[in-house]
Amino acid sequence: MKKIPFNKPFLIGKEVEYIAEAVKSGKISGNGMFTKKCHEFFEQRYGFAKVLLTTSCTDALEMAAILTNIQPGDEVIIPSYTFVSTANAFVLRGAKIIFADSEAQTPNLDASALEELITPRTKAIVVVHYAGVACDMDVIMECARQHDLIVIEDAAQAIDAYYKGKPLGSIGHLAAFSFHETKNIISGEGGMLVVNDERFRDRAEIIWEKGTNRAAFFRGEINKYGWVDVGSSFLPSEVIAAFLYAQLEHLEQIQEKRVTLWNQYYDGLLSLEEQGRIQLPVLPDYATNNGHLFYIVCQNLAERQALIGCLKEHQIHAVFHYLSLHESPFYQDKHDGRKLPNTARYMDCLLRLPMYYELENEEQEFIIEMIQKFFEE
Ligand SMILES: *Cc1c(COP(=O)(O)O)cnc(C)c1O
Repeated sequence: MKKIPFNKPFLIGKEVEYIAEAVKSGKISGNGMFTKKCHEFFEQRYGFAKVLLTTSCTDALEMAAILTNIQPGDEVIIPSYTFVSTANAFVLRGAKIIFADSEAQTPNLDASALEELITPRTKAIVVVHYAGVACDMDVIMECARQHDLIVIEDAAQAIDAYYKGKPLGSIGHLAAFSFHETKNIISGEGGMLVVNDERFRDRAEIIWEKGTNRAAFFRGEINKYGWVDVGSSFLPSEVIAAFLYAQLEHLEQIQEKRVTLWNQYYDGLLSLEEQGRIQLPVLPDYATNNGHLFYIVCQNLAERQALIGCLKEHQIHAVFHYLSLHESPFYQDKHDGRKLPNTARYMDCLLRLPMYYELENEEQEFIIEMIQKFFEE
């Protein structure tokens, strides 16, 4: 059996053709024809009020932190079990991060424990829809409404996923998506900011265009453009937008394949869960599955590491993540000392299995078989 990587970028349609088209059109800087096509795609398919492509989800989160007007000392509530960018974007604005624990059933932020983390300094809550599975948004939005807080959805993993029928990314005041090569829809590096709250709409575009009102100028709304606010270069080149648009044309095909793979993992490993050997992902009844990533939760760290080693011997690359942010070298001295037991458990015991568009059924069967065998021994 050949090597099975953890992830593999893929071409599915006209990526190369569209990149050539962008170059031949004489414009490959940002906000051109392919950027507009991507924007229209997202606005039409998901009803997002306003979207802006960015060079990464990290950039979209940084834009959200600027829009939220975070001042030094403001508190932002963020799950500890997440990628560094979720927190870093707000730390760059001087925020103090209040780390929240995960739920026992899923790695998502425990919405029922949110209230006790709120102080007069709290400005925003950033939720992460882990594995594309929705957080309990009704509870979170109601809590934010009562305390006048901004909610930002880190929807990096959550394309084409829903909460009670609403697309993820459409519920918070702002949302950030990723098209990094490890996500469902890819453009190498890439991301998108979704602006749901009208108050932020005009300013988002200015921050995106280096603090200038150039986008309004190009639409002919003003006759000269200049420096009107802070900002940065958050927009991707047309080369990236061209690649992304080619992928979006096949979104349904990509989603169908990933969900099929996800279900095959689930069915293939269910007997291990029934024997109490591992925990499989839990899908709350308010959430849909977008097939973003498949994980299992082992009994303890030693067992997980042994399983990674065993799979590696069979040329299968399975990986773990995340190292709790509240215990990171950068943040441990700034954390308030609360223990986050569910975060700790996912950090030690969660294992992600290979998951990508071109993963073949027989490769997947082999992975499942090797996991079964590991637990038999
Ligand atoms: C991938 C990811 C990011 C970062 O996305 P980039 O596009 O690489 O910046 C942020 N948050 C979460 C939860 C992610 O999974």
